[in-house]
Amino acid sequence: MTQAQIRAMQAKIGTEVDGFWGPRSIAACQRHLRSLMPTPARFPRQAGVRAFYGPNGVRGGYTPPTTTIRLPFTIYYDAQAVNTLSPHRLCAQSLLNVFNRLAAAFPTRAERQAAGILTYNGLYNPRRMRGNSGAWSMHAWAIAIDLNAGSNGNMTHWPARATMPLEVMECFAAEGWLPAGAFWSRDAMHFQATAP
Ligand SMILES: [Zn+2]
Repeated sequence: MTQAQIRAMQAKIGTEVDGFWGPRSIAACQRHLRSLMPTPARFPRQAGVRAFYGPNGVRGGYTPPTTTIRLPFTIYYDAQAVNTLSPHRLCAQSLLNVFNRLAAAFPTRAERQAAGILTYNGLYNPRRMRGNSGAWSMHAWAIAIDLNAGSNGNMTHWPARATMPLEVMECFAAEGWLPAGAFWSRDAMHFQATAP
């Protein structure tokens, strides 16, 4: 993000507007997003996903139960148009709500394009997390979605370099989804149906 964008975000989340995204900005941003989340929490924390959602998917084996939702606008996986998604059935309605919120927050195609939300990089993927923890990725439950990965990579700092707008994160937070950029300071493409 640009300095101007970071300053605008600092003003919105009610912290010192100095263009420097330090611990106070991080805390204020997380407070802001938590304040939008439904209470009680709709989803478990990451440690509780197996108890809540059941087993993770395994390639060639178990597949989590999914529900197909029809999106209010077309998104794109590379050049391929995508009009439906199939998240885990326990977070499908909330993901549809997220997209309806995005449609309202970014009413024109140009705004959606600028926000990066037309670029879809995957949802269900029965794989383990990157790195050496060996733990399963939230994508293995079909409870995480990636958007605009090219500008919001796993090791790209948010918001210093990654571009995911706060307003996109607000749409996810309002449905109880965790926006990774604000809570992990990286991986801003990633949103998951867990409590922070
Ligand atoms: Zn992801």
